[in-house]
Amino acid sequence: MNSFDNTKIAFESKTNKDLRRAFWLFKLISSSSMVIIGKYLTLFCLKLRIPINWFIKATIFKQFCGGTSIEKCNRKIKELDKFSIGTILDYSVEGKENELAAENTVNEIKKTIERGSADKMIPFAVFKISGLGSTDILHKASIKNKLSNIQKSKLEKIFNRAHEICEFAFKKDLPIFIDAEESWIQDLIDLWAYDLMKKFNTKKAIVFNTLQMYRLDRLDYLKKIHQLSSKDGFIYGIKLVRGAYMEKERKRALERNYPSPIQANKADTDKDFDDAIHYIFQHKSDFSLCVGSHNEKSNLLLANLIEKNNIDKLSSNFYFAQLLGMSDHISFNLSHLGYQVAKYVPYGPIREVMPYLFRRADENTSVSGQTSRELSLIKQEIKRRKEKN
Ligand SMILES: Cc1cc2nc3c(=O)[nH]c(=O)nc-3n(C[C@H](O)[C@H](O)[C@H](O)COP(=O)(O)OP(=O)(O)OC[C@H]3O[C@@H](n4cnc5c(N)ncnc54)[C@H](O)[C@@H]3O)c2cc1C
Repeated sequence: MNSFDNTKIAFESKTNKDLRRAFWLFKLISSSSMVIIGKYLTLFCLKLRIPINWFIKATIFKQFCGGTSIEKCNRKIKELDKFSIGTILDYSVEGKENELAAENTVNEIKKTIERGSADKMIPFAVFKISGLGSTDILHKASIKNKLSNIQKSKLEKIFNRAHEICEFAFKKDLPIFIDAEESWIQDLIDLWAYDLMKKFNTKKAIVFNTLQMYRLDRLDYLKKIHQLSSKDGFIYGIKLVRGAYMEKERKRALERNYPSPIQANKADTDKDFDDAIHYIFQHKSDFSLCVGSHNEKSNLLLANLIEKNNIDKLSSNFYFAQLLGMSDHISFNLSHLGYQVAKYVPYGPIREVMPYLFRRADENTSVSGQTSRELSLIKQEIKRRKEKN
C-alpha cells in the first residue's frame, strides 16, 4: 500500500450533496478570519438565545458529530458499519467541573460502554479524566503539591470514578481509551492508567492510555513503561497521538519560565511518532496499539508493517482511528483493505459540544496542509463523479 488516494472508496458513503456541504465547510473554516467571525457570531446568538441550533446542526455539527444523544448516533453507527468502520462514542461535553456534572459524565460514559458491549460496530469506549472532577486538584496532585483533607477526598473521588468506569468496561469486555491531556495533569493520569491496566489488562488490553508524541519525553516513557508492565505481567494498551495542546503548552511554558515539554519542530514529533510505532511493533506481544492520527505517512507505516509481516489484519492487536468528518480517505481506504478502523463519533447537546466544534474549526485552520488536502480530495471526487456521468 502506498497511498490513500482512491477517492471513490474514500467518499463512497457520501452523496453529492454531502460532498458539496463538506467542500464549502472546509473552505470556510480554512480561513482564520471566517472562523473568528463565525465563533463570535455563534456565541453571540447562543447567549441571546437566538435560535441557530438548526443552522449549526445542518452544517458543522453534521460534519463532525454523530448526534445529540447516544440514540441519535444510531444512524451514523450503521452508516459507518456498512463500510466496516467502527464507532467510538465520544461524549463531548466539556468544561463543567462540579460534582453533579462529574457524576453525570460517569453515568453517560457507562451508557456508552453498555451500548458498545456485545456490539461489534463499537470496538472501544473513551473518556477524559478531567471530565471526572476538578482540574485544579488534578494539577496539584500531579505536581505533588500538598493537598488539604477536603482536596484529598475530592481527588479520591475522581480516581474512584475512573476506576468505576474501567471496571464497568472490564465487566462488559469493552476496551476503553483514557484520552491524554495537558502535561501539567498528565503525570497523574499516567500513574492512574498504569494502575488500572495492571488490574484490568492481565488477559487482554481493556484500558488504554494515550501517549502524545509531540512531547519530548514520550519515547523514553514508552520504553520505561514497557519494562515495568512486562515485569508486572500485563498488556499495555496504547493510543498513540501527536498531541492536541501544542500552542497552550508552549505559551504556558513561556509565561511561567520553564522549558517547553514540546518537540522543537514537526519533523521531531513525526520521527518520535513513527519510532514509537516501530518500537511497539517490535514488542507486539506486550502491547495493544491504536494509531489515532490523520497523518498519511504514519498510517501507511503501520499498515505496511502489518501487511509485510503477514499479520492477520482482523485479529491483530493493531487498530487505526480518525475523527468523524476528517480524513475519510484514510479510514475508508484502510477498512476497504481489511484493517481494523474506527472513528471517534462525538455527541452531545449542541450548545455543549460547541467547544469541541470550535476546536475542530481551529485545528482545520491551523494544521497547515490538512484542510487543503481535504478540499483537494473532495474536489477530485466531485470531478470524478461528473466525468463518470
Ligand atoms: C482518534 C484520535 C484520538 C485522539 N486523541 C487525542 C488525545 O487523547 N489527546 C490529544 O492530545 N490529542 C488527541 N488527538 C489529536 C491528535 O493529538 C492531533 O492533534 C491530531 O490528530 C493531529 O495530528 P495527526 O497525527 O493527525 O497529524 P499531523 O497533521 O501530521 O500532525 C499535526 C500535529 O503535529 C504536531 N505538530 C505540529 N506542528 C508542530 C511543531 N511545530 N512542533 C512540534 N509538533 C508539531 C501537533 O501535535 C499537531 O497536532 C486524537 C486524534 C485522533 C485522530
